[in-house]
Amino acid sequence: MIRPSEPIIIVGAGQAGVRAALALREQGYDGSLLLIGDEPQLPYERPPLSKQVLLGSREPDQCTIGGADLFMEQDIRLLTGVRVERIRREISSIALDDGATLAYSKLLLATGGRVRTVTVQGAGLAGVHYLRTIEDALQLKAQLLPGQRVVVVGGGFIGLEVAASARTLGCSVTVLEAGERLAARALPPQLSEKLLQLHRARGVDVQLQSRIEAFAGTTVVQGVALEDGRNVPCDIIVVGIGIAPNVELAVEAGLAVVNGIRVNHRLQTSDEHIYAVGDVCEFPSALTGRTMRLETWRNAEEQGKHAARTLLGHDENFSALPWFWSDQFDYSLQIAGEPHMAAHCIERPLTDDGLLIFFLNEQQQLVAACGWGRGNSIAKDIKIAEILIKARRTIAHEALADPAIGLKSLLKGTSDA
Ligand SMILES: Cc1cc2nc3c(=O)[nH]c(=O)nc-3n(C[C@H](O)[C@H](O)[C@H](O)COP(=O)(O)OP(=O)(O)OC[C@H]3O[C@@H](n4cnc5c(N)ncnc54)[C@H](O)[C@@H]3O)c2cc1C
Repeated sequence: MIRPSEPIIIVGAGQAGVRAALALREQGYDGSLLLIGDEPQLPYERPPLSKQVLLGSREPDQCTIGGADLFMEQDIRLLTGVRVERIRREISSIALDDGATLAYSKLLLATGGRVRTVTVQGAGLAGVHYLRTIEDALQLKAQLLPGQRVVVVGGGFIGLEVAASARTLGCSVTVLEAGERLAARALPPQLSEKLLQLHRARGVDVQLQSRIEAFAGTTVVQGVALEDGRNVPCDIIVVGIGIAPNVELAVEAGLAVVNGIRVNHRLQTSDEHIYAVGDVCEFPSALTGRTMRLETWRNAEEQGKHAARTLLGHDENFSALPWFWSDQFDYSLQIAGEPHMAAHCIERPLTDDGLLIFFLNEQQQLVAACGWGRGNSIAKDIKIAEILIKARRTIAHEALADPAIGLKSLLKGTSDA
């Protein structure tokens, strides 16, 4: 029932959806294009929310991904504050929460994720915050006043970025992490340790292996009760325990969904006319074929661009390398590739407490690299590492470990040398 004259519709006006819409135009699509988002604002980037927006160095209108003019200029019909309620695949149309029904030629799902919430006693008290949207960030920012006692539940990237921002703003901050180390899902132990040392050195009270039992208070939160009987008094709680992908539309439409909307190498779902991108989709890794779901800015960008090409009929596999960054106080970290594939791990110490870690597989090919350093100091090295990973280069351990050997010299023989 597909009608080529109908618009391409993109559901979700976040990083991936917007990038796909803009890329469709860049790649010459001149047909009708509709971008639908349920948030009221113009589309915006989330990474500044836990950093510059909380710190007050960036206003919400400086976080937009292109303004209203850009969408007009590009002839992209943008519907904000409108929710897609249902997909009716049998007639290739979607139903909106305002009662309208719209037919599509192709559909792209870019519905992202929503925060996982805690269900402990006291979870609904005033003063308990989450951080995903611009509204969340503004509400939290208004509370982060000097002297406030903040508890961050969850020692992952978002929780730790919030902890760093709150501490910089003069709050006293405690991070409660259930696991044995920080950001354990994404980071090797060496970088978890760097994060821990930095936060503690800047006055954040990080408590590992601390499981929460309840939030205390009558109307407003006053503390956190831990399973081991301890109580941490506080004025504000920020819960950062990950996100759940917004898969409901896809599930109800009968698309294949596991840990996200399942797509093939072309980012196509189990319905050939429907694609999915960004935080919501689960896709096969180009390096291993293993399915993965990435909750990162660059993945949303790359998949948005790639989906635009496949929507226009190009038959190409998605092969971008996973890449992630986080800023913590005046340090930043970056991860490129897939560290879990590693058989060997080599460290290269850098000046000023910086560190690079390289991961090689059994064949001595570089499969991933992590960097930790002040400001943007490791950016160049990680960029070079990305080229080496893509080139599947075999590299001697000694060369990677030796800070006197410039990484650039290892590029010899690659097409980017
Ligand atoms: C505070 C914060 C800091 C971050 N920092 C970093 C960082 O430093 N580095 C990094 O790499 N990544 C970071 N990220 C992650 C990055 O922002 C996400 O990976 C990226 O935003 C994912 O884009 P997306 O388009 O897939 O999803 P989203 O940005 O979640 O966009 C999806 C949109 O779809 C809308 N939607 C959902 N369902 C419907 C529906 N039925 N109808 C209409 N609209 C719908 C949602 O409301 C949302 O607006 C951060 C995220 C947060 C929250």
